[in-house]
Amino acid sequence: PPAPEVEALQHADVARLLPVPVGESDKYRRGVVGIVAGSARYPGAAVLAVSGALRGGAGAVRYVGPAGDAVLARHPETLVHAGPPAKAGRVQAWVIGPGLGDTPGVDDVLASDVPVLVDADGLRSLDPPAVRARPAPTVLTPHAGEAAALLGTAREDVESRRLEAVRELAGRYGATVLLKGSTTLVASPTGPVRVNPTGTPWLATAGSGDVLSGLTGSLLAAGLAPRDAASAGAYLHGLAARHASRDAPVAACDVAEALPGAWRDVR
Ligand code: AMP
Ligand code: MG
Repeated sequence: PPAPEVEALQHADVARLLPVPVGESDKYRRGVVGIVAGSARYPGAAVLAVSGALRGGAGAVRYVGPAGDAVLARHPETLVHAGPPAKAGRVQAWVIGPGLGDTPGVDDVLASDVPVLVDADGLRSLDPPAVRARPAPTVLTPHAGEAAALLGTAREDVESRRLEAVRELAGRYGATVLLKGSTTLVASPTGPVRVNPTGTPWLATAGSGDVLSGLTGSLLAAGLAPRDAASAGAYLHGLAARHASRDAPVAACDVAEALPGAWRDVR
């Protein structure tokens, strides 16, 4: 029979993917994630991305950007760097974009030889050939509006053909693409599109996407393949929102705090 075009993510599949430290683990082996996010205008996006990353299983989180004070006030375990990403020291995966504004730096991060997740403002000036030429995997995490901008079309067009749009983006950028929305889809250049069943409309709240990008970056740093990191990230993020919400409103920071509970549920 022909390979399926779409597959639903299952609890047991996600359980097998989650990185669990073993006796010999140390923080470097568990993975170091670098986060380039936040700006004077949006320092909170940096805090939320770091929150997601800290609870995503990485051994350490490095933050590079202007919101270091806000990040440290909330997360003293973060390693904060003032210089450019290339000077930040060892990093096994980068996350760039949440709340970045028009701060440059995307090209520097894309030039690295480790996996890179690009979200939000980082998606604004992405060059398909440059992304395709990267020596390591790239993950893009647009919502429908950002996906429409990447495809040069209207948001309604993406909304009306989400499956086709996510495949088209994965092909164009040679990347894994996580298209956010009421049903989150994950596509890679080859293989079936994965559909995440755990979402909840309570996630439609400012900053929740920033938590997802940090979380998924952590899974990349821990060594998951890009489509596995993206799909396990979406799955845990949705479950965490359900945990935090139980049919009542949640804030993005609640979703980040509920990640350990979601993790325990899956394992
Ligand atoms: P962002 O658009 O970057 O703020 O991210 C929003 C997050 O909330 C993503 O993880 C979306 O998948 C999720 N989300 C937004 N709207 C809905 C919805 N109606 N149902 C389920 N999840 C949603
Ligand atoms: Mg966003």
